[in-house]
Order: sequence, then structure tokens, then C-alpha cells
Amino acid sequence: MAEGSLRYDVAIAGAGPAGATLAYLASRMARGIRIALVDFRRWDNLWGKPCGDAISHHTFPETGVEPPRGEEVRQLVKGILIYSPDERTVFRVDAESGYIIDRTKLGQRLVREAEDNGVDVYLEARVLSPIIEGGRVQGFAARLKDGSKVEFRAKVTVEATGGGMALKTRLPRSWPVAEPINPQDTNIAYREKLVLGEDVEEPHYIRIYINQEIAPGGYWWYFPEGIREVNSGLGVQGGKGYPSPMKIFREKLLGRRPELRRIVRVVEAGGAMVPTRRPADTLVGPGIIVLGDAAYTVNPVHGGGMSYSMRAARYAAEAVAKAWEDDDWSMEKLWMLNTAYMHRVGARQASLDLFRLFLQRLSDDDLNYGMAKGLMREKDIYETSISGELKMSVVEKVSRVIAGLGRPSLLIKLKVVADYMRRIRELYRRYPESPRGLEAWKAELRSLYTEYLENLR
Ligand SMILES: Cc1cc2nc3c(=O)[nH]c(=O)nc-3n(C[C@H](O)[C@H](O)[C@H](O)COP(=O)(O)OP(=O)(O)OC[C@H]3O[C@@H](n4cnc5c(N)ncnc54)[C@H](O)[C@@H]3O)c2cc1C
Repeated sequence: MAEGSLRYDVAIAGAGPAGATLAYLASRMARGIRIALVDFRRWDNLWGKPCGDAISHHTFPETGVEPPRGEEVRQLVKGILIYSPDERTVFRVDAESGYIIDRTKLGQRLVREAEDNGVDVYLEARVLSPIIEGGRVQGFAARLKDGSKVEFRAKVTVEATGGGMALKTRLPRSWPVAEPINPQDTNIAYREKLVLGEDVEEPHYIRIYINQEIAPGGYWWYFPEGIREVNSGLGVQGGKGYPSPMKIFREKLLGRRPELRRIVRVVEAGGAMVPTRRPADTLVGPGIIVLGDAAYTVNPVHGGGMSYSMRAARYAAEAVAKAWEDDDWSMEKLWMLNTAYMHRVGARQASLDLFRLFLQRLSDDDLNYGMAKGLMREKDIYETSISGELKMSVVEKVSRVIAGLGRPSLLIKLKVVADYMRRIRELYRRYPESPRGLEAWKAELRSLYTEYLENLR
């Protein structure tokens, strides 16, 4: 088998939502740039990782990717129904429209258009390890479809291999960009795509069931995909020793829930890890950019990662286009990816991470009570999830009601939570303008988290 070396400006490992979006956008912004996009999946299984397939509409204008159309759309989503643990209260959030997508079809469109723009796409090719020389990443070794081993050498390498982190886990541990994830900051998620024997009610509404007994530290979902198909599954917090979500799905949901009784066929089943935390401290390292699940760019409250991955890819495309134009591939030059992401998305993501840590500590009783009494309404939930800001009017209302409750409840700490959410957004707005400021900023961030967790006890 031939061994060889291929040279590019940019070598992207992983053609999922993060990698494919970057290849598509960067090849459009910087005409003539040489990009390699490498993934071990086949064409008919692109973006084939297990997913709930739900994506908000606003992702598309925000990233510059055309919204899904035709067969890329499995279902139009008009809103979300959120159920309290006892299911006596149902919030109907109508403001958030979106899609249940056919991930493979959308992925194929982005990869095809990237190819039309001159990107070299290598499918069924496995990325093996980074090439590190002179204190920076110079590319990666990969095994191609025909079995040959090849070096992809590039001015910048992109780690977009999702939770597997094929490159990131092989970087020197002392590099800030190699920051590992604490298992408790993940959800282990499992889902099945099912064909039902009867029509789904309200097929344009996706359903989220909060229930610490069924899905500790996460939730279970029921997303209609068409009239008689659903995508249903659950996520449980990692690192806590909870039973596997597949076991829970089979033992507590499948065949037991009225919505999951008349099943004609299982189309697909599978699970994976979902990061549910603030973004990695830096998405940029020496000769390397990290995006998507590998950089923990997700919404920590609901675990949706496609939108955040694509936003990170858009800022990465702008940084890459600038580096290419100036022929300067230094960390300093690429740092604009960090500042753009941290200011525009990271501040909200980190704020929602603090909210997630609070929610995971609430009991089902607290959640039932809070939802039944309307302590947080649909509008509040929507606004908090969009802005990462907990309104003082909500905090004051909760404090008033809880004070008269006469039983201990963590809800009483909501003011503390709101205060730290505000402080962390401010900290992210002060994200350093260059790599030099990173260590001091990280120290401030770590002490804010330590203080916050102490306060939640
Ligand atoms: C069960 C479940 C449900 C979810 N539901 C939703 C949802 O409804 N909405 C939402 O927005 N998000 C959801 N998520 C999260 C979402 O799927 C991810 O955040 C998103 O796919 C991240 O995109 P990515 O490109 O970073 O990684 P991935 O989608 O994981 O893509 C990584 C790519 O890298 C490739 N790759 C990996 N290793 C190698 C290697 N060594 N060599 C070559 N190629 C490699 C893979 O084949 C893959 O194509 C869910 C996750 C799970 C597990």
C-alpha cells in the first residue's frame, strides 16, 4: 500500500455538522483555499451519529447555511411541549420554530457544495493521530478507504470528530486546547427511531419530559418525525453511576408509555455521549482548531449541539479565511474564532451551564411545584434559553412564593443562581483578546465555578 503525504491549507478531521459546515463556509469565503475533509463514514451514512435531529430555525440565518428544504426536512416544528415530572403541568413554548431534519440529507448537501467549491473529500477514511512537530500540530495521519496510510499536512488542522476526539485526546495534556471533560459534565444519550401503528397527536410539537426518576440529570424526549414516525430517547447525567439510558428506555418507556406502545418497526437505535457544559476554554491551539462536540459547543440545558457546532464553524470559517488572506496561521491570528464564539455564544452557553447545574440539583417535587405554581412561565423559559439571562422579576416571584412555602427547597437559591449567571456572562464578555491573557482569565473562571458550587450546597 502506498504511503504518502498530502498538503493542504486546512485539514479537517470529521465531516459532521461542525466539520462539514466549516468546509462549506470556508471554501465559499476564501476561493482557492485548499481544504481536505476526512470522515470514516460512507456517503449514505453522513452525519449518521445518533441524534434527536431537532434544530432551531434561527441556526440558519445565524450561520449563513441555507435552511433545510425538501427531503432534508422530516418535520416542521412549531413548538415544544415541556412536561413536569408528574405530567400535570404542560408548558407550550410556541416561540421556537425549527425542524426535525434528515441529518444525512442535510450533511450531503453541505459536503456536495463544499466539493463544488473545490474541497477534497475523503470518506471511509479514518483519522489516526495528530502530527506534532516544532511545538505545533502540522496535520494528521489517516488510513484511506483503500487501506493506504497517508499524512495530511496542513497550515491548520481542525479537530471536528465529535465526542470521540480522535486528535484532541492525543495532544500534550499541558496544552490548554487539550482540556479534557469531566464525565459529570456529559449526558449519555440513547434514542430509537420508531414507526408507530397510529398517527401521532400534534405532530408539529416536540415533547420534553423532565423526570429525575426516569432520566436523572437529563430528560426524555418524544419528537414526531412525520405522521407515524417518532424519534424518542433520553439522556442521563454521566459519571454518576446511573443505569444506562438504553436499559432505562427499554424497561421504563418502551411499551409502557401510551405514546410508545403500538410500535410497528424500529428503524434505528443507538446512543452516544453529549457534552453539557460551558465551551472548552479555548477552541484554538498551536496549529489546531477544535469545533463541535470535541470543543463542548452545545446548549448545556437541552444538549442540542448542532446549532452551536455550526455557529462555531461559521466563526472558524471567518478566522480561516482571514488567516489565508494574510498567510498568517499563528494562534494569535486564529484567536478571533475564540473571541467571536465566546462573546456571541459562549457567554450565554456558560450562563446556561450554571443554570443546568442548578436544575440537576432540583428534586421532582421542586419541579412539579415550580411548574404548577407558574414560578417560571413558558415565556421565561424561552427567554432564559435564548439569552442565558434569568430575569429579576422571575427571581423575585420565586423568592416570594418559596418564602411562604414552609419547606426547605433549593429554589430559594434562585437569586444566587441569577447573580452568578450575570457574573459569568460578564466574564465571557471579557474573554482575552489574545492567547496571552488566557491563563489569568481561566483562573477567574475556575474560582467563579468553585464559589458557585459552594453556594449551591
Ligand atoms: C442521542 C442523541 C440525541 C441528540 N439530539 C440532538 C438534537 O435533537 N438536536 C441537536 O442539535 N443535537 C442533538 N444531539 C447532539 C448532536 O448530535 C451533536 O452535538 C452534534 O452532532 C455535534 O456535531 P459534531 O460535528 O461536533 O460531531 P458529530 O456529529 O459526532 O460528527 C463527527 C464526525 O467525525 C467523524 N469521525 C469521528 N472519529 C473519526 C475518525 N477517527 N476518523 C474520521 N472521522 C471520524 C464521525 O464519523 C462524524 O461524522 C444529540 C446527541 C445524541 C447522542
